[in-house]
Amino acid sequence: MKIRSLLIFLLPMLVAPLILAQQTPQSLADAELPSLLAIYKDIHIHPELSAQEERTAALVARELRGAGCEVTEHLGKYENAELKGYGVVGLMKNGDGPTVLVRTDMDALPVEEETGLPYASKVVAKNEEGKEVHVMHACGHDAHVAAFIGTARALAKLKNQWHGTIVFVGQPAEEMGAGARALLKDGLYDRFGKPNFALGFHDKADVQAGHIAVTEGYASANVDSVDVTVRGVGGHGAYPHKTKDPIVLAAEIINAWQTIASRENNPLDPIVITVGSIHGGTKHNIIPNEVKMQLTVRTYKSKVRELVLADIDRIAKGCAAAAGIPSDLAPIVSVSKDFATPAMYNNPELTKRLIAVWKHSLGDENVEIIDPVMGGEDFSEYSLPDYSIPAVNFHFGAVDSAKIAEFKQADKELPTLHSSKFAPVPEPTIRTGVIGMTTAVLELMKK
Ligand SMILES: [Zn+2]
Ligand SMILES: [Zn+2]
Repeated sequence: MKIRSLLIFLLPMLVAPLILAQQTPQSLADAELPSLLAIYKDIHIHPELSAQEERTAALVARELRGAGCEVTEHLGKYENAELKGYGVVGLMKNGDGPTVLVRTDMDALPVEEETGLPYASKVVAKNEEGKEVHVMHACGHDAHVAAFIGTARALAKLKNQWHGTIVFVGQPAEEMGAGARALLKDGLYDRFGKPNFALGFHDKADVQAGHIAVTEGYASANVDSVDVTVRGVGGHGAYPHKTKDPIVLAAEIINAWQTIASRENNPLDPIVITVGSIHGGTKHNIIPNEVKMQLTVRTYKSKVRELVLADIDRIAKGCAAAAGIPSDLAPIVSVSKDFATPAMYNNPELTKRLIAVWKHSLGDENVEIIDPVMGGEDFSEYSLPDYSIPAVNFHFGAVDSAKIAEFKQADKELPTLHSSKFAPVPEPTIRTGVIGMTTAVLELMKK
């Protein structure tokens, strides 16, 4: 009897190391999932706009501390000094070895949620201009935060399999394209170490949950925001000959800009020039003094970027000169420094290495190679200058496979990122994020 009770007492101790030895990114992701789901819903129901991520950042800091990280909060210096930095860095140290940066973004968008979910956001907040707007996690950054926390927890439990330092970065203001730059400006690499590799992830609204999707090489575009003021000489709408009409001129300029893609650019280098906003005039019968336009310009190569931006300026001024606008009223063309992101370049060698890891951990059929897009992602900042730090930003699917099939059959488009109707299926999406990131880090830091 005594021996039996001794065995009952000792058994857990004998079995525990076996259980520990069996821990894998997959089993840890599964074990953490209920808690990560609760975190996800909590963040989803409390979204915060760019540069206002106070609550989310505090949650990230608390969780990183809980996973054993040395945590620093309130990081980030923006060009606009009025914006507060809510960046969080957690250092997970495990002896000598490589340094790997793991990043999540944390911000939400000014979108009114229409998902109908029980945990849908009802939050209203003031945007930068002081205007009240609805706020929603319409880009899935809440799922990123949950997967990021899951990754930190998993890697804390797998310390026997890796060495070095992991720099966990909770980044604010991704949607402004300003957060990564703000952290670097605040001395991210001087204070916490320059990483040997940088890893980021993003959910994908047209890829099956459970899948990882990645692009080798250029993955997302340089994003530039350009403001143009076309000036004229206003007057009565009935007497155009006594004016210089900036509205007709703006229309000509817009069309002429489209010839940059078709006539001036090498067709093998993708570019997009979109005029997203145009405002001029107040009334039917008044020719205004000016028209204001806002453009988004997308490119990959920096040489192409410089050429396109110069072309936009030259064409605007050339059209104005042709319309007889005096040179002191030439269009004002300004390229924003605040709202710009460099192209994301997934280091090809590193991408290939990680694809092999993911195929092994998730199965060949669950890893997709996808085409690059002209969207923007400021994760690219971490590998600059000149992509000298090998980086990969990979995607994890967020949509139920049955829903993808249903929409395809009906020839309908799925809700995209930033749509008021977009919501990931949380469990498989977060689980794949945790496994994808944990296995990637283990590969780069393995003993
Ligand atoms: Zn977004
Ligand atoms: Zn996003």
